[in-house]
Amino acid sequence: MIDLANPEVCFAIEVVREAAKLAREVQCEMAAPALAKEDKSPVTVGDFAVQALVGSSLHRAFPDDPLVAEENSGALRSAEGQSTLEQVTELVHRVVPDSTPEKVCRWIDWGRGEPTTKRFWTLDPIDGTKGFLRGAQYAVALALMQQGESQIGVLGCPNLAGGSLVAAARGQGSWRIRLSAPEEFEQLHVSDCRDPAQARVLRSVESDHTNVRQMDDLMRALGVKAEPVLMDSQAKYALLAAGEGDLLFRLLSPDRPNYRENIWDQVAGSLILEEAGGRITDLEGKSLDFSVGKTLARNRGVVASNGHLHEVALEMIKRIRAGY
Ligand code: AMP
Ligand code: MG
Repeated sequence: MIDLANPEVCFAIEVVREAAKLAREVQCEMAAPALAKEDKSPVTVGDFAVQALVGSSLHRAFPDDPLVAEENSGALRSAEGQSTLEQVTELVHRVVPDSTPEKVCRWIDWGRGEPTTKRFWTLDPIDGTKGFLRGAQYAVALALMQQGESQIGVLGCPNLAGGSLVAAARGQGSWRIRLSAPEEFEQLHVSDCRDPAQARVLRSVESDHTNVRQMDDLMRALGVKAEPVLMDSQAKYALLAAGEGDLLFRLLSPDRPNYRENIWDQVAGSLILEEAGGRITDLEGKSLDFSVGKTLARNRGVVASNGHLHEVALEMIKRIRAGY
């Protein structure tokens, strides 16, 4: 069983549970107006509210721990951002009664921490913002890193199986908790599928987050019969960990061949998968190296599997990439 007497484990589960509930309220209540970031990707009041909530809780619980998170308060401090900041403050106020616009900005910017060799937390407040905006899957993703290695990973997935939270701690397995039944822990295990033809493949909904042509070739080379399941965010790792999928690929988009994954997009999900018995590497079979900053600068793409299908998947990727 995961050690609930451990203060960090307990904190991570509780804060992600609260954050997932808040995100669900945002998705249900409002049309989640989106602002565009510098890289043109969307950010919503939900992303800001969740980051402020986690930042404030972390600062209270572990004031010496840095938080490395996706968002910052820049857009909210501008003149055009004032009405968004008011909405965000109202949302955070529901959970943190002493919220003010200034404090909310400060809590968000608590996430401007830098990775260290000691320990730090990493957060994607809403992983899969595009899914969140479509009313589909998304995840609140929080993880604790120590000496370049993930120790705790929690995903809050309000739209997965009626609302799920999946938590892993190194050496303690992966566990699913329903948002509606916080006392019941169910241990997760990857599938036993060993035949690529029978594999259930998971992939991004957003076609520009992958290489669609290569993906089609890969499916053919593996002989996969079923159509891939399209899903946003690290919720895909929760499905793999639960044995409800067998393979996941993050191929490199032809538009961004030098794309490197952000740590907050991979740490929680990868620990959850590994602790459920699965395997995760980059497209060349190298382990994901979380020790080199905010991105996985030493890795290209991701292959995640139930373990049994990993080698055949890597081999087929090698053949297909050699042919391009
Ligand atoms: P998914 O829903 O699995 O596609 O993953 C969502 C994540 O994809 C977001 O958090 C983004 O950080 C990330 N992302 C954005 N652009 C790209 C890209 N060109 N290639 C791969 N991932 C991307
Ligand atoms: Mg993300």
